Amino acid sequence: MKRGEWNNISKLEPRNFVCGHCGREVGSVEGWFFTQRFPGSSRVTAWIYICPICKNPTFFDERSQIPGVAVGRAVENLPKEISDLYEEIRKATSQEAYTAAVLSCRKLLMHIAVEKGAEKNLNFIDYVDYLAKNHYAPPNSEPWIDRIRQMGNEANHEIKIMSRNDALEIINFLEMLLKFIYEFPGKVNLNSPSVE
Ligand SMILES: [Zn+2]
Repeated sequence: MKRGEWNNISKLEPRNFVCGHCGREVGSVEGWFFTQRFPGSSRVTAWIYICPICKNPTFFDERSQIPGVAVGRAVENLPKEISDLYEEIRKATSQEAYTAAVLSCRKLLMHIAVEKGAEKNLNFIDYVDYLAKNHYAPPNSEPWIDRIRQMGNEANHEIKIMSRNDALEIINFLEMLLKFIYEFPGKVNLNSPSVE
């Protein structure tokens, strides 16, 4: 946590929000506001609130919160490259960059497959099939895999802008896959008695 104080801060109307920096649900009364002038009138149309927990600023206008709340949850025991890319994907969703997030999900799936022994330079569908065939995807996840195949193709061959829901769908699947492949096996190794 940061030490120190922001200066020239104002008291604002209290606002509850999920902080995009620390992920906590917070209430804040501290920050700044923007008064927009219209012909014959003026009103407050934007705010910056300081999170009381992590002290980072969040911008609000009448329709958005920046940074927003990242999709998905953190996963433990990931190899560094996979962890970095997964966190980058989550960050992209907090900036409403959903198409970038979905495209990077393709890249992440390919990375996981190669890390688990698939050949390099295959195409996307082959990597997805590799994960499914080698039991890296949980049983009954075939409908998910099909949806990912379809979504990957859509995003690459036509420029189709992805929505928050599209990103949510594929990131939830990836999160489950990452837990299944890396987090749970990691926990078993930690807890099993050593054989000596
Ligand atoms: Zn915070």
